[in-house]
Amino acid sequence: MNLKSVKLAALLVAGGLVALAGSMFREHRLFQEPTVAGPGVTEVKKLSDFSPVVAGTVNDCNVYILDSGVPGGTAFLIGGTHPEEPASNLSSQLFVENAVVKQGRLIVVNRANTSASQITRNGEAYPRFYSVQTPWGEKVWRMGDRCTNALDSWPDPEVYVHYPSGQNLAYMDIRNFNRTWPGRQDGLITERTNFAMMEMIRNEKVDIVLDYHEAELEYPVENTIVTHEKGQAVAAMTSMMLTSAVFPIPIGMEFSPTALHGLSHREIGDHSDAMSLLAEVAEPMLDRIRGITDEQLLMSGKDRFVMKAGEHKLLYAPIDENGWPIDIRVGRHVTTFMTALDVFNQIDPSKAVVISGVPSYQEMVDNGIGAYFKDPKSAPSDRVFMD
Ligand SMILES: [Zn+2]
Repeated sequence: MNLKSVKLAALLVAGGLVALAGSMFREHRLFQEPTVAGPGVTEVKKLSDFSPVVAGTVNDCNVYILDSGVPGGTAFLIGGTHPEEPASNLSSQLFVENAVVKQGRLIVVNRANTSASQITRNGEAYPRFYSVQTPWGEKVWRMGDRCTNALDSWPDPEVYVHYPSGQNLAYMDIRNFNRTWPGRQDGLITERTNFAMMEMIRNEKVDIVLDYHEAELEYPVENTIVTHEKGQAVAAMTSMMLTSAVFPIPIGMEFSPTALHGLSHREIGDHSDAMSLLAEVAEPMLDRIRGITDEQLLMSGKDRFVMKAGEHKLLYAPIDENGWPIDIRVGRHVTTFMTALDVFNQIDPSKAVVISGVPSYQEMVDNGIGAYFKDPKSAPSDRVFMD
């Protein structure tokens, strides 16, 4: 074989690999996630119905409205802020498919930053999909990234100057949906998405917002509720009610720093009448010291390297050979919101948001969260929505 044919063979192999990778990226980017509108869903809107600044973009997400018809308050649940944190959108979707609202109104988004759910983190070898076993088969979601896909938001600035505070943030945070609140109507797509959600929060007179996240165990803001000053009583009481009585591992409470801008718990509270809270739960796959980054680690939360770091007291959350399974992570998130609402409802009963139909923490841990997702194939087609 002469040199020319070696080069030609190498070119063909490289071209073949590029084509294969390209088709896999495309399959992931275009994958549709069905959500079955549960018995409580009275209307499904698009985010652009509240503000035109996201019309025609990938981030014009579904907005699920569960209206009891009984006067009360309005709660807004944000899933999918960071799509590499699956407990976030799984928890919000569990409400859409199961919750029945008895008083007031619940608004839910599952894919707050859809663009970020259509790409995984470059160079990190993330799985493209993850799944949960259900009684009717395997339910699959897109694994995503922390930030908006650069294909939808390019180029990044040298320094990201947050609007309206003027604070300087890291350049890629202009694509981080939890650094771009309260948004900007003529900004890049992530800022526009936040702006549209702020418009919805203000115009729909939302009273309480909870933003779902997961965090690495090496990070100090972990297994906690971060709250705006307005949510102090709700967050403190929720933390007390859940710690030890319901959750074997405590859930803390801390204040949103007043000088740190762009975060939901700070900006939503500052720029609307709503009280804003954010919930964190442990996700070992986000730790830098993790082992093989596959779906198994993502969903089981079991990792011997992270455990080793725990033995050396390098972590802010406990971990043992049982890991942090997704049933526990979603169970904590769902129950945190339900408990926060219980406390919120006592403050002003005329603004209450009363929800039923949602499983308890122990039911989710015992039965697995797969028991609470509906089969889109056996649901009427006009009740199935693609996120
Ligand atoms: Zn997050």
